[in-house]
Amino acid sequence: MPEKENMKSNSADNSTATLSPANYVVCEGIETEIKTKNNLTIKEVSGKGKKEEVKIDIIVNYCKGCEICVAFCPEGVLSMNKEVAEVVDISKCTKCNICEYLCPDFSISVE
Ligand code: SF4
Ligand code: SF4
Repeated sequence: MPEKENMKSNSADNSTATLSPANYVVCEGIETEIKTKNNLTIKEVSGKGKKEEVKIDIIVNYCKGCEICVAFCPEGVLSMNKEVAEVVDISKCTKCNICEYLCPDFSISVE
């Protein structure tokens, strides 16, 4: 099976997301790179936002699942996957940084 096929989730259900050998998880068409830095796990999504290229990092270890970023993102870019925030539509992101300013645990960053 081609690697690209292997990386795809075969359902819209978050629970069916699969981890590829290259540390990517693909869920609902969003390719999230899973990185490890200083013993922290970081979910990184990059792509074309509403105006320009954008990269959103979520430090899994710091996210306490308060949902503030999800509730206040004016564009519906973010959602919760179990207890951790995740990017569901980076194409809508305007880089307003509201999520970053409001996160009480410095878990999410946008650049
Ligand atoms: S605001 Fe921060 S801690 Fe709360 S869900 Fe979002 S990323 Fe996690
Ligand atoms: S930068 Fe703004 S539009 Fe992008 S995810 Fe954060 S709150 Fe939403």
